[in-house]
Amino acid sequence: MKLVLVEGDITEQRVDAIVNAANSSLMGGGGVDGAIHRRGGPEILEECRALRASRYGRGLPVGAAVATTAGRLPARWVIHTVGPVYSRSEDRSHLLASCYRESLHVADSLGASTVAFPAVSTGIYRWPMADAARIALAAIRHAGSSVTEVRFVLFSPAAYADFEQALGDMG
Ligand code: ADP
Repeated sequence: MKLVLVEGDITEQRVDAIVNAANSSLMGGGGVDGAIHRRGGPEILEECRALRASRYGRGLPVGAAVATTAGRLPARWVIHTVGPVYSRSEDRSHLLASCYRESLHVADSLGASTVAFPAVSTGIYRWPMADAARIALAAIRHAGSSVTEVRFVLFSPAAYADFEQALGDMG
């Protein structure tokens, strides 16, 4: 598996699947979630609504992942995953790792070979970037997925630098 870091906007990535840092409601939100729904159009939300009416009546659990169409985005699928809110008193890193593992599991089941990830939980959910980068890269490396390229799309030079450092530290 090739691991690639880029600085940019995830909604512009030409890949098989774009991962969304969603919330449990699957009804859209701010940050990367808002950008994906704006750019992808209403078809994504329609499928999210259908998921809420069927498999995920109580919402998508934290650490889980589910796919929908990518609508008008230059990808085939959006894989929605719900990151944990960062807590200083409770270690939720297993849930953050689960987002990456489960997203790759969904990608494998779809036959997606290229997947773009944002830095899940590092925005509104406040996870410190350097720590999130370390958890994300380790989870992906250990996932045992048949995805051929994982592309991290970092939204700022600082986020890119943290991921670059974490990748270097991993050797
Ligand atoms: P969360 O609720 O999981 O923290 P956010 O969407 O608030 O999700 O933030 C996750 C990360 O995505 C943050 O680092 C944020 O800067 C970044 N981000 C926001 N918009 C985009 C975008 N269009 N492309 C890539 N990353 C983005």
